[in-house]
Amino acid sequence: MFVLVCAFLNAQTDDSTQVRKIYDFYLTQSKSYSNLEVLTKKIGGRLSGSKQAQDAVYWAKKALYDAGADTVYLQPCMVPHWVRGSIEKCVLTSSKLKLNKNLAITTLGSSVSTPMAGLKANVISVASFEELEQLGVEKVKGKIVFYNVKFDDTRIIPSSAYGETVKFRVHGASYAAKYGAVASVVRSMTHARNNFPHTGNMKYDPMVSKEKIPTFALSYLAANELSEALTKDNELMLFLQNESKNLPDAPSFNVIGEIKGSEKPNEYIISGGHLDSWDNGEGAHDDGAGVVQTIDVLSMFKKLGIKPKHSIRTVCFMNEENGLGGANAYFKEADEKKLKHIAALETDAGGFSPRAFGVDTTAGMYKMVLAWLPIFKPYLIEQIKVGGGGADIGPLEKLGVPCIGFEPDNQRYFDIHHTSDDTFDKINKRELELGAAAIGSLIYLIDKHHK
Ligand SMILES: [Zn+2]
Repeated sequence: MFVLVCAFLNAQTDDSTQVRKIYDFYLTQSKSYSNLEVLTKKIGGRLSGSKQAQDAVYWAKKALYDAGADTVYLQPCMVPHWVRGSIEKCVLTSSKLKLNKNLAITTLGSSVSTPMAGLKANVISVASFEELEQLGVEKVKGKIVFYNVKFDDTRIIPSSAYGETVKFRVHGASYAAKYGAVASVVRSMTHARNNFPHTGNMKYDPMVSKEKIPTFALSYLAANELSEALTKDNELMLFLQNESKNLPDAPSFNVIGEIKGSEKPNEYIISGGHLDSWDNGEGAHDDGAGVVQTIDVLSMFKKLGIKPKHSIRTVCFMNEENGLGGANAYFKEADEKKLKHIAALETDAGGFSPRAFGVDTTAGMYKMVLAWLPIFKPYLIEQIKVGGGGADIGPLEKLGVPCIGFEPDNQRYFDIHHTSDDTFDKINKRELELGAAAIGSLIYLIDKHHK
């Protein structure tokens, strides 16, 4: 027993020494920050189907080769091609309150447009789908439904408030249409009290309603104004106008960079983020950060001269935001070719200070990673949580692949998520690099210890 314990402690000391070297590499030689500057400033917002998304594919291919990939693949996928258009207008009018005021609004992704000249209607505020149902066609028909549900400020982790309210963004239009509404608006998914509206994807559900009505998000402050005004004048009107379009699906690619494994080249450890982003900002935290951090996994192996046993892949997924075309294409090929994946890690929660990893219990992965918590503690990783992953690697869970989610500090993410404020200047270089170092270290440890 004593010998075994000593062997375990020696292994942990070796691992700690190597992880220290990995952190030193990232904190002095990482390309994450400079790569992200190019991706955000030279290319910018990269919505699926756009020229910028295509430019990002070519950029990623080069960045992966520069990082030291032996091979870079472009994996074809089909993606929705939604275009926002240049007009987005919302005007609140009330003769009673002598109001005629523009409100900050953004069209939700995949939404249809209003008639060309816009639409004008009374507004009905609801706090839940149940309330909407109780009001029914009689009270809702011909109106604009306002899902007046705030992020719960008492939640410690903002993503849990997001989890509770995002259903109104995704499904609100179909439920409103079911009762004859002409449009729906939601509060922006945020705690931040400002005038940046937050976009994000919505879905029309033909099982709920065959009608497709336009749908929008108001900024936090605009939603407050509307809510307040409705308490004084429930006859007020909103004018809405936009010109979004759903074009035919377009061809695009995931970009996959690989370093071949020296002992088990047919067994893969993958990490990735998503290359596409919303069009209104620069996609800096969501998810340029994840893309550059996982490209940097390859540079770490190359620069430190570590030959991985398993094949190490970085996957820059396409179309996470509005369709998962890339995630499904990766899954399909992995399934058809019976590719063996040891683990899949996703970083899609911003380039903030690392806090935790969420790890699936599948195939003993959680136990293995939990044993390394003492190695990560000096680097401020406080927790290994049960269960993890991300939208892009989610489909791989069907193949029994243990999935891991990188969890940075969440407090500021929803301040800028899906807004025009998600720009490169919101990135802190050291926080971004600490995240890259945590991810690189975990991939290194999995490769070294997985039997
Ligand atoms: Zn994302």
